[in-house]
Amino acid sequence: MTTFADALFTFFDAYFVIYGVPYDRSASFRVGQRFAPDEIRKASYNYESIFFKNKIDLRNVPIHDMGNIGEFGDSLSMIEAVEFTVSKIVSENKFPIGLGGEHTITVGAVKGITKEGKDLFVVSIDAHADFRDEYLGDKYSHACVMKRISELVGTENIAIIGVRSLSSEEIEFFDKATSRGANLLMYSPLDIRTLGMHRVLNEIERASKGKLIYLTLDMDGIDPAYAPGVGTPEPLGLDPYTVSMIIERLSSKLIGFDVVEVAPPYDNGITSILAAYYVREVISEVWRARYASKA
Ligand code: MN
Ligand code: MN
Repeated sequence: MTTFADALFTFFDAYFVIYGVPYDRSASFRVGQRFAPDEIRKASYNYESIFFKNKIDLRNVPIHDMGNIGEFGDSLSMIEAVEFTVSKIVSENKFPIGLGGEHTITVGAVKGITKEGKDLFVVSIDAHADFRDEYLGDKYSHACVMKRISELVGTENIAIIGVRSLSSEEIEFFDKATSRGANLLMYSPLDIRTLGMHRVLNEIERASKGKLIYLTLDMDGIDPAYAPGVGTPEPLGLDPYTVSMIIERLSSKLIGFDVVEVAPPYDNGITSILAAYYVREVISEVWRARYASKA
């Protein structure tokens, strides 16, 4: 097995623990996300060990890659396996990094962290809200991820960035929730252009005050010009710098991260390379934030 580049430490000695979830059973349009964990690992060898932005040498950062979590029957058994893995990582005060697989894996990750009693705010970067109650008869479809997560952490503890596609069911749900006074933060790429990313991040910072943040990156949140190899591409998306700014700004509060929905059969290679970039950015920025706060 190819491990992620510069993941040179044992589980015991590591702070960052990478795990892959080659799952794409509920993918609805283009499939092949099961190949993504290994493609992202291969793409990670594209880079120098030094992360350019902050000059951190990842060879000196305690990273472990535990490989892929095995084969699954249905979505529930996959979610249980991810929950088990992530709760073990978090219970040992380590930082979980999931390589999807489709977005459904995030339900397991958030379950694993909340099981450890952590008070959580979830930020999702995604072209879609993923707030359907069920999709094609499946409550654990990739299209229902944030709805399931809202049942774990509350809609007020969620922010979704990059949304530019909603179903009528989702629009109705958000309208009702807003009229009840519920506060769910949702920003389209156009909102970010008009408001500016700093203002958006200030709002998220205010809403998440005192809580740890789990960040999930559905690669279709990014514009298909930069990330063409995804299950459900949507034009007019975020640019790669915006995602970079989000990671940098949230880094001191992050407790876990995953990158999902890369579909290698539809990729020209660049989506896996960008996904590997963000894994490296999360690792180096979180490490920098920890180190800086202790210094
Ligand atoms: Mn998604
Ligand atoms: Mn999506």
